[in-house]
Amino acid sequence: MKIRLDSTCALVIVDVQNDFCPGGALPVRDGDAVVAPLNRCAAFFAQAGALVIATRDWHPPDHCSFREQGGPWPVHCVRGTPGAAFHPALRLPAGAVVLSKAEGPKVESYSFFGEPGLERPLVERGIRRLFIGGLATDYCVKCTALDATRRGLETFVFADAIRGVDAQPDDSARAVEQMKAAGVKLVTVEEAAEAAA
Ligand SMILES: [Zn+2]
Repeated sequence: MKIRLDSTCALVIVDVQNDFCPGGALPVRDGDAVVAPLNRCAAFFAQAGALVIATRDWHPPDHCSFREQGGPWPVHCVRGTPGAAFHPALRLPAGAVVLSKAEGPKVESYSFFGEPGLERPLVERGIRRLFIGGLATDYCVKCTALDATRRGLETFVFADAIRGVDAQPDDSARAVEQMKAAGVKLVTVEEAAEAAA
């Protein structure tokens, strides 16, 4: 990776919430395995002067994505509940920005891009490169990465800090191929750590 991490870079930690981890309402297999590598990333990104963002699903109890409302998912990440909290081992550095998405009953957002106001921190800080990890590869990670490239941001996804739902076998593998085809670069946490040094 021929770049240096600096204040034009941002780390986006996508939806590392209890409900998406083992034991949660909509668990991703091994979802909690992303916590340690993302904690490492958050530390060296902050050290390099890069912005650290953590997104979260923050739904009302009657959200349109829930089966009771005709949506595809079980009730998950209801704002203010333990299931919506970040995984307890996730460590966000001082100055990290938390972005809550899909807060309206009729608003579904796999990506924070497109929700009014949520892109503001990127614009205000002149962010040009986004590094993405978290949950889930085949939904929110994929949508966030694709939206970022569409907006002209140089976009990286951490191959070793994402996990997928795989409702259909190989959904995650397909998501990775789709991201690559759109120009997203797959990198490892170690490669980014070297770029921060
Ligand atoms: Zn959701």
